[in-house]
Amino acid sequence: MKNCREITRLLSEAQERELSLSERMGLRMHLAMCRGCRNFAEQMATLRKICRAYARRDEGNSGRE
Ligand SMILES: [Zn+2]
Repeated sequence: MKNCREITRLLSEAQERELSLSERMGLRMHLAMCRGCRNFAEQMATLRKICRAYARRDEGNSGRE
């Protein structure tokens, strides 16, 4: 079983690389039980969405405002 520290590390690594199947399973199982890490995961997902939306906006906005 993974602990919270491993989980938060995996969550940030997931931004940069593809996680293995066993890593994803461990992550999922832990998130199902651990509220703290679930919140952290949600924050990461939200952050990523904001970043993406921001990048897209910049792309589409290559001209002047
Ligand atoms: Zn946890």
